[in-house]
Amino acid sequence: MAGLIVRPRARIFHGHEWVYQSEIQKTFGNPEPGDIISLKDFRDRPLGTAIYNPESQIVARRFTRRKQDLDKAFFLRRMEHARKIRETSGIQKNLCRLLWSESDGLPGIILDRYGDHLVLQTLTLAMDQRVEIIKEALLEAYEPQSITLRNDSPMRKAEGMESEIKMLHGEVPAPFEVESAGIKFLVDLSEGQKTGLYLDQLDTYSAVAKHSEGLKVLDCFSNQGGFGLACALAGAAEVTCVDISEGAIQAVGENAKLNAVKIKAVCANVFDFLRESEETYDLIILDPPSFTKNKKTLKDAMRGYKEIHLRALKLLNNDGYLSTYSCSHHATREIFLSMICDAAVDAKKTLRLVENHAQKLDHPVLPTIPETGYLKGFTFQLLPNR
Ligand code: SAH
Repeated sequence: MAGLIVRPRARIFHGHEWVYQSEIQKTFGNPEPGDIISLKDFRDRPLGTAIYNPESQIVARRFTRRKQDLDKAFFLRRMEHARKIRETSGIQKNLCRLLWSESDGLPGIILDRYGDHLVLQTLTLAMDQRVEIIKEALLEAYEPQSITLRNDSPMRKAEGMESEIKMLHGEVPAPFEVESAGIKFLVDLSEGQKTGLYLDQLDTYSAVAKHSEGLKVLDCFSNQGGFGLACALAGAAEVTCVDISEGAIQAVGENAKLNAVKIKAVCANVFDFLRESEETYDLIILDPPSFTKNKKTLKDAMRGYKEIHLRALKLLNNDGYLSTYSCSHHATREIFLSMICDAAVDAKKTLRLVENHAQKLDHPVLPTIPETGYLKGFTFQLLPNR
């Protein structure tokens, strides 16, 4: 088998599974893009089996420390293990992330379940080339009504692949209803629509909503309104959702109807909305998209985060709550918290930490692969000026 010799001190010797271009000492046996290769250390000792793509910065991703082919039996074993760890974590079965890439030993495969329907992404070249074997395994393991291949993630570009959305199995399902912790959502998996939910936040909605009874709530970067809906259902006095996407704001309206609650849905840029707002709030949620995909732009991203925090703090009533999230793995929990402290100091406000938040357990974190732990959040309460 062709493969790579990895330089000493590469991250793979510290528990990571990736080999970057700069960590390759030598390539042997002329591997082709998408091939399965073997990895060796500089003393020729085997390190395991990986998938290979020289077009990507991450040239190799190890998926086992042994010798292994990517056959159906392998995929089925990994799926069974992923199922078990979700079962023991008490994850809601019919609405969850079933497979999550490196965290489930399947680099580049993301699989979400919405009831009887599956949504698959193949984000590495090797997995994309094996999509038919993966489909066979999915049909056997989950017996879904449909599988949508939702390959429009920008991550595919880094692997030299095009964007595509198509049905891998069954018909495009008509929009349907799913329920999580008492909140109903309309899911539309059809082509071109912004599909699905942010499954990683499902548990946080109720964690935040439990503070919201009788309060005036502002859900910023609301997408389909998960936080806002949970608060409205928990008895909030008034809920406003703000998102820049028209589709998302439309979905907030539909979901509000479905749950028989009243929500004001505003299509706007949150930066402008917060700057121009003349109203104040008792609970503000900030759940922006990742402002940075790499280390280089981290400083700019932190400026953006600080700006919205400053503005939100100014609009927060005394004793009010601020619930804030970052899904950028580069903005670590420490960096994120330190930015919030800076914003509070500038705004001359004192915050009490009420709760730490993280991604749901169906997005398992492997501490030796820091990229797997990306979502962090905090709920604070504003202390009265003193
Ligand atoms: N809280 C949501 C997830 C938010 S994802 C949930 O739990 O479902 C980030 C959202 O921010 C996306 O819906 C995107 O449309 C929106 N967004 C991105 N930039 C924005 C901006 N400048 N102003 C308002 N919304 C923005």
